[in-house]
Amino acid sequence: MNRLQVMKFGGTSVGDAECIRRAAEIVLSAARESAVLVVVSAMGGVTNRLISAANKAVAGQDDPSSEIDSLRQQHIDAAKVLVSDKSSLDKLIVELEQITADTASLCRGISLLRELTPKTYATVSSVGERLSARLMAASLRELELNAAVVESTDVIVTDDDYLQAEPLMHEVRERAAAVLKPLLRDGVTPVVTGFIGATADGVLTTLGRGGSDYSATTLGAALDGDEIIIWTDVDGVLTADPRLVPDARLLREISYNEAAELAYFGAKVLHPKTLRPVVEAAIPVWIRNSFAPQKIGTRITTEGHPTEHGVRAITAIPNVSMITVGGSGIVGVIGVAAKTFQAVASVRANVLLISQSSSENDICLVVDSVDAAQTLKALRSAFAADLKHHDVEHITVDPNIAIVAVVGEKMRGTPGIAGRTFSALGKRGINIIAIAQGSSEYNVSFVVEAGAMGDAVRAVHEEFELQEARSEAS
Ligand code: ASP
Ligand code: MG
Repeated sequence: MNRLQVMKFGGTSVGDAECIRRAAEIVLSAARESAVLVVVSAMGGVTNRLISAANKAVAGQDDPSSEIDSLRQQHIDAAKVLVSDKSSLDKLIVELEQITADTASLCRGISLLRELTPKTYATVSSVGERLSARLMAASLRELELNAAVVESTDVIVTDDDYLQAEPLMHEVRERAAAVLKPLLRDGVTPVVTGFIGATADGVLTTLGRGGSDYSATTLGAALDGDEIIIWTDVDGVLTADPRLVPDARLLREISYNEAAELAYFGAKVLHPKTLRPVVEAAIPVWIRNSFAPQKIGTRITTEGHPTEHGVRAITAIPNVSMITVGGSGIVGVIGVAAKTFQAVASVRANVLLISQSSSENDICLVVDSVDAAQTLKALRSAFAADLKHHDVEHITVDPNIAIVAVVGEKMRGTPGIAGRTFSALGKRGINIIAIAQGSSEYNVSFVVEAGAMGDAVRAVHEEFELQEARSEAS
């Protein structure tokens, strides 16, 4: 087979008819040179609205069908702009009507039963991709490209964790060979619904919020694609969030490890699992702006393009809370850490940072603020007896903090990064509450007061001269 590009379009890149047309033109021009597989997200905001309809239905609030009705109308309006041929348009509208009518019935069912299981939740939240894929395929056909919608339930086989499903790579490969390869061979451009998968028995699953990036790399790896392009609404990956650092610079090339670390630590350009499927085969992944396709974007590769001091980017995570389990009673007591993390895991809270000083006076961990209350409750109940006997003196939560992370793969083995980071903060009078460094050394993270987050990011960004590192190759 000739070259294959996998192109994923995010929610803003397919946000309305005009955006979909622009995306279709990008596909068309790529399709002149290679085979293209398209993966789409739902139109921007649609997944949230579907989820809210499902939540309202289970709460017995309002009439959830009014939300579904407005989604139906939005997609039909876009279809009318995109498709000029009357009979193609009629056919498309019938499909959109059918999908939304099924969704409305499903919501009525949820409302009647007052029950919303993970399976049903996944099914409702997947509707946006099923609708947008049809608009995209129709728009490609309008440009005279032979395009066909492929339901990812037929290709992306996953485990049965319905809302955070994991693709089963071996099975996905087989299905991709059976379903997608023949289309590509015949010169058809498949338009696959992102975000969605199905168990081996065909029950629909979703890959987690923002999961269509992951769909794209999973399919790219399964088909041995040549490159994957994630089309979004920003120019690529920057050295910092430009809202915090106005002179943040675009990174032309970063490594898989750096991109994964940045995705995990707050830079919202990629779903955190996106790069896993492509690392082994070293398939390059691009982040590009569908609103400015003339710009080259950021390329993610094995090597990246390390700078001398190794620091590539600074990220910040607001809306997190620090929980501290402490007291002199825990010094030297075996099992406190195990008990702590067992309690945290029992509520499935995602731990972003862990730190314990060698005096062992306390263990602190940072979780998403939405998980804080539950986590605290689980810890207090796990340590109830110890609190009573003062073996553990306190379990406290501080919601008023933020994490700042300094990221760069080649920081490993470069002495002085932490020193420079902390003295830059010290010079500005920024207090560091806790520090952690993973042994991978891709990342040094620290906790500051929420109000100091912006200053901390700017201080470190400036210290490593990220705004003017000119050694990047173009
Ligand atoms: N539409 C899904 C979401 O909003 C998946 C995606 O956009 O990647 O989470
Ligand atoms: Mg996304």
